[in-house]
Amino acid sequence: MTIDKIKDSLISAGKYVSENANIATSKANVKLNLKSKEDALESEYAKIGKEYFNSLSKKEKDKYKNLLSLEEEVNSLQDELNRLNEFKVCQKCGTKVTKDISYCPDCGSKVN
Ligand SMILES: [Zn+2]
Repeated sequence: MTIDKIKDSLISAGKYVSENANIATSKANVKLNLKSKEDALESEYAKIGKEYFNSLSKKEKDKYKNLLSLEEEVNSLQDELNRLNEFKVCQKCGTKVTKDISYCPDCGSKVN
């Protein structure tokens, strides 16, 4: 192989590698864009579904048992989280106190 031929084959190998890198980058960008647009589309469908559901009568809503039970679970978890957010724990003795308490009623330590 002459020097020129070796040079040519190295150049074409280099082009091949960089072309593959371009394709990989494009693929990653398109995938990311696709995912974000799919999510946006799902969210638009969900809005329509929610509007539709809210327009139903109580009797019609009762047919959607899965949705109603999920709604109930979400509400109860939200309530639980709200309750938990009202408390903090003494770092010294582990006593649970409400957020407005500055000193532990059990051990007297400052509670952050
Ligand atoms: Zn304490």
